[in-house]
Amino acid sequence: MDIRKSEKLFSRARNILVGGVNSPVRAYKSVGGTPLFISAAYGSKIVDADGNEYIDYVGSWGPLILGSAHEAVLSSLSEAMGKGTSYGASSEVEIELAEEIGGAMPSVEKIRFVNSGTEACMSAIRLARAHTGRKKILKFEGSYHGHADLFLVKAGSGVATLGLPGSAGVPEEVVRDTVTVTYNDIDGVETAFKDNVGEIAAVIVEPVAGNMGVVPPIEGFLSSLSEIIRQDGSVLIFDEVITGFRLSKGGAQEVYGIRPDLTCLGKIVGGGLPVGAYGGREDIMKLVAPEGPVYQAGTLSGNPLTMTAGLATLKNLTLDVYDTLDTRAAKLEMGLREIFKTAGVDLQLNRAGSMIGIFLTDKPVVDYSSAKSSDSSRYAGFFHGMLAQGIYLPPSNLETVFVSAAHSEEDIDKTLNGAKEALESIGSGIGSGGV
Ligand code: PLP
Repeated sequence: MDIRKSEKLFSRARNILVGGVNSPVRAYKSVGGTPLFISAAYGSKIVDADGNEYIDYVGSWGPLILGSAHEAVLSSLSEAMGKGTSYGASSEVEIELAEEIGGAMPSVEKIRFVNSGTEACMSAIRLARAHTGRKKILKFEGSYHGHADLFLVKAGSGVATLGLPGSAGVPEEVVRDTVTVTYNDIDGVETAFKDNVGEIAAVIVEPVAGNMGVVPPIEGFLSSLSEIIRQDGSVLIFDEVITGFRLSKGGAQEVYGIRPDLTCLGKIVGGGLPVGAYGGREDIMKLVAPEGPVYQAGTLSGNPLTMTAGLATLKNLTLDVYDTLDTRAAKLEMGLREIFKTAGVDLQLNRAGSMIGIFLTDKPVVDYSSAKSSDSSRYAGFFHGMLAQGIYLPPSNLETVFVSAAHSEEDIDKTLNGAKEALESIGSGIGSGGV
């Protein structure tokens, strides 16, 4: 496959953009090789600068549930664009999108739009701290809630560990109040609450973890977590930046029957434009300025183009769409299982609706350490083998494969045939990714 233009663009980019990219995983560090530069995307396909077309399973990391350049999203956007790109004042479409979200997620009684998932999670924590008057927060190892300082904690060993910074530039004091527990480990949560009685302001959790590959909650994990939190008086924050409107219209909270106090959203609710949102119990949300003392603001928050793209996306998410997503993702799952088995390559495949995690390991993946047991250099080989077949997977095996409503039966068949070829090439050592 000729990627000379991507190569040229990457070397030009590296002269001026840090690492040649604007978000680290795009640099292909964990799979090696030259990152593709993208010139267009339509439906289930993405086209690189050299004109090569790929079936896209990244979907802009989750927002593009309807596929790229969806007709309804584009037509409402072009109408909105004619009326200006930003007002810095309120407009009706903000209310419409808020109502659409509130209608789908009953726990969201009041909502505030921001510009990224990072902002949503950071603001939700500030709010929970204000509501409880407590400082500590509990998060799970391997989960990602954006890059605000307090979340950048490298989990230590032991059941529950007080954090050490996981990024340069984050002072120890900032993460001293971040408690980290193993995902799916309810005993660990109990211990953490016992060790920090009356001190934990909030637990923030991805109800289906999507940033260590895909790791669904084990039976009873979310309900036990919710119960412990209720008894303690802390705040339950569901980070549904990925799962919101992905797993169902009502998100993971609908699927698992849990009502969180606060919910963080992003990705799909912006229809592919920059977005974030946090919402939940009215008595907590009313602490946010201008109603209350918790300050949070944004120049472009509630941007009319973002709101328009988000609204068009949500309005097109019918039950039929979720059925199709599930059918296609199930077909991909079953096909991959079969192909890996035939090839004799260890595979643990976790699926929640249209989210798929591909782990090249023989151990079940239930938390971060089992996720990390996946053979990343073998994944690199698989990734490059798939690229060569015209299939664009996430350039890291600790990311989610997203199926969109635009993926056709034919796309899935082509992907499965590609997987067969890719595994053969790994077997012969070709396309080992050069990590
Ligand atoms: N929360 C989750 C679960 C995410 O997956 C992400 C991003 O991938 C974020 C928060 C941060 O969102 P953003 O990248 O929009 O800041």
